[in-house]
Amino acid sequence: MAQQLLPGGVDSPVRAFNAVGGEPIVVAYGKGARIWDADGNEYVDWVGSWGPLILGHAHPAVVKIIQKAAERGTSYGATTELEVELARIVCDAVPSIDKVRFVSSGTEATMSAIRLARAFTGRDKIVKFEGGYHGHSDGLLAKAGSGVATLALPDSAGVPASFAAETLVVPFNDRPAVEQVFAEHGTEVAALITEPVPANMGLVPPDAGFLQFLRDVTAAHGSLLIFDEVITGFRLSFGGAQLYFGVVPDITCLGKIIGGGLPVGAYGGRADIMAMIAPSGPVYQAGTLSGNPLAMAAGIVTLRTLSNPGVYRALDEMGARLADGLREAAREAECEGVTVAQMGSMLTLFFCGESPRDYASAKHADTERYGRFFRAMLDGGVYLPPSQFEVMFASLAHQQRDFDQTLAAARTAFAGSR
Ligand code: PMP
Repeated sequence: MAQQLLPGGVDSPVRAFNAVGGEPIVVAYGKGARIWDADGNEYVDWVGSWGPLILGHAHPAVVKIIQKAAERGTSYGATTELEVELARIVCDAVPSIDKVRFVSSGTEATMSAIRLARAFTGRDKIVKFEGGYHGHSDGLLAKAGSGVATLALPDSAGVPASFAAETLVVPFNDRPAVEQVFAEHGTEVAALITEPVPANMGLVPPDAGFLQFLRDVTAAHGSLLIFDEVITGFRLSFGGAQLYFGVVPDITCLGKIIGGGLPVGAYGGRADIMAMIAPSGPVYQAGTLSGNPLAMAAGIVTLRTLSNPGVYRALDEMGARLADGLREAAREAECEGVTVAQMGSMLTLFFCGESPRDYASAKHADTERYGRFFRAMLDGGVYLPPSQFEVMFASLAHQQRDFDQTLAAARTAFAGSR
């Protein structure tokens, strides 16, 4: 039925399982670290709605506050105290953020941050990394144009080439390429946007010093540095990747965790930059449901829970435990050509010899093998990201039995995917 009514049967492409094969699951409900499909099958969930559910599904405190908020009305299109409270938590936690604007998705956050950077600098061009994902707005879908060096081609039908031409694309972790693009276009570049730890080509950690290098290059050319922390924000540490690495961007984009599983996004930065946004300044950006009271309430409870001592140590430990367990399971099954990249509670199991450092090397991964592994894991009651180029997320809800079931399934799945 979904196929008849929704394009491809889904509202977001990766859900269709095209990258792994097999029948996509239709989820009925979730609790803690587990989800159940419409046929009653139970799965350990390592996707966590692609990052937001750092406390797990239907966390009692989150459910309770959403219920309480809903009883008071679901939207007013006017300012609430909840927005101010969440803004206070975000501004206190994230080093680069003096002021924040809430929107309804990560896509809106990055799209608006780009507009703001262009207005602030009076320049048009954007630099992004190959394999970096920043939502689906026109200029940010641009990837690498093969043979056209850094001149991007639109990576989706329907994006005018003239829009994509404003986006310059370079390989991640490639200092000479970044230096060259700034040497050639530095005076036209409004901003460089990057995920501080790319998680949309699988997990690709930055080389030591690379983020500081980006900070220095952008500053030297009068361009802004935008960290897209839609995934890493409140995930790698309470202050995001920027606190973790000690590199402070000019603008930060957030989403996912700050809405506790409800639709949300945000962008924030230095007060002088944020002063450009309407109604303080000339950059127009608005939203009927922006700062939605249910999303704000869920975000507040989620972030308060994450501010408890020891939370990030526990998350890091879980990420490491899963990564080590998967490596061990691959060894036991004598499954060659497997590598696990992990940082904090994010990890990717790549079917390639060594951990990728950029999109080109990530693309060497054997996606057929990943598909076989994914399907075997699903048969074993474990739900992994239905694509090689995504990350698994550990949550505070994962327990010993979830690890045990996952690693037992992995031993079987590795044996079948050699
Ligand atoms: N930036 C990053 C780094 C993302 O991972 C995503 C989505 N996964 C987005 C932006 C877009 O967010 P949304 O899907 O909420 O529009």
